[in-house]
Amino acid sequence: MTPKGADESVLVPTKFKVLLLLLAGSIIAGFNVYNADHDFRSISMSRVATIATALDTNKTKDLADTVTSSHVNYEYMHTALSSIKQANPDFHFVYLMNEKDGVIRFMADSEQKESSGYSAPGEVYNDATPAFKAIFKTGKPLTEGPVTDEYGTWVSMLVPMVSERDGSVVAVVGVDVPVSSYYTALVNAGALPLLAAVTLAIILAVSDSMRRRRVEAARFRSELVSIASHELRTPLTGLRWGSESLIQQNLAKEQMSLAHDIHDSVLRLQEGAEDILQMASLQSKHSQQLNIVPNDLTKMMRDVAANQKLAASERGVTIKLSDSWPQSVMANSDPLRMKRVFNNLLSNSVKYTRPNTEIIIGYHYKKDEGHTISMTDKGIGIPASEQDKIFSGFYRASNAIKAQVNGTGMGLYLSRTITEQHGGKVWLTSKEGVGTTVFILLP
Ligand code: ADP
Repeated sequence: MTPKGADESVLVPTKFKVLLLLLAGSIIAGFNVYNADHDFRSISMSRVATIATALDTNKTKDLADTVTSSHVNYEYMHTALSSIKQANPDFHFVYLMNEKDGVIRFMADSEQKESSGYSAPGEVYNDATPAFKAIFKTGKPLTEGPVTDEYGTWVSMLVPMVSERDGSVVAVVGVDVPVSSYYTALVNAGALPLLAAVTLAIILAVSDSMRRRRVEAARFRSELVSIASHELRTPLTGLRWGSESLIQQNLAKEQMSLAHDIHDSVLRLQEGAEDILQMASLQSKHSQQLNIVPNDLTKMMRDVAANQKLAASERGVTIKLSDSWPQSVMANSDPLRMKRVFNNLLSNSVKYTRPNTEIIIGYHYKKDEGHTISMTDKGIGIPASEQDKIFSGFYRASNAIKAQVNGTGMGLYLSRTITEQHGGKVWLTSKEGVGTTVFILLP
């Protein structure tokens, strides 16, 4: 069986929800990454700008005019840049550069002379981009990167030092931050919303797939119940009527006994099949929707009693409606289901009462409570210690098993469940060896 309806109704919205979640997660992640990029650059830039203002512009200009390591200001610059690097562990290179005839040269850097990253004063920096060179003309600071040069891949902050005298760009202070720090900041900002969206999407997909399985199972069960109902109930009813009409014929003794055996077996089969079908149908959502309409309770009870008449008469049992029953009394219920409840309970009274006794079906109405129906038998009763267990389903009292009365142990559970769906109650009083009264309250 392919429950296509279930697939379509549940899966399409799920796919849509999952996509929506992932899309929302990606948008938030993208927004966070954008902000993190902006923050990283502007915060780093303002740190480098502070450094640029701290450096002596006049000394820088002097050095810029004659760039050599023997210049009187070189040691000052080299020491200043080294201590800036030490104070800012995330800065990999700190350097000072100038420009002459379109060529960018190192004036000083933060590296020790023996280090591989050291650039001697006057050394040409070949990897300078046009945007870098343009700073010497525009005087505008710049963040570049990630860019790759001969020393590695960096995000670079480049801030011009401007002469107070003529406004010209004396040098550019540069700081290189390893690209890994930059990427870490971006990943940290974007990962959380993405992770949350993916986790939620997984939870949604898993829970919907579980829901889909439940829907499929319920659908399968309800189809099975409806097929089984038809395939079992119809022929069993036919068999029952057939065997009942056989019994009413003028048969020879042996044939009559055979007809009774057939009738008993059919009744047993019908009761068992009915219990199983009711149990299966109770599990399906569809069955929980009651079809409540006003019904004549008196008529319903007379029909149920008539239905049990033959089974009762075989044991010499009579079923009587008490005088308290009105000619007709209307009550709201799902007629098919309530009839099953009455049938279940009356068939118990018939089964468990002593032969040749009378079962009384009583009726009582109380304004704020509703209709109370009782069925009193003079049967084997129920041991006190087992009276709370017999409603739990699949439980049969020890004396019923000992007396070899057939049953499935489902009737009381089903009857109570159906009655409670109607807002009513089922309970009983019983004394072992004396008899039982079962009560049904319908609001
Ligand atoms: P079953 O198919 O066994 O009759 P029920 O759920 O209808 O299943 O009843 C559960 C058990 O409760 C029975 O097996 C029996 O032990 C006990 N019981 C129910 N009704 C009566 C009754 N009227 N008299 C004595 N015992 C009863």
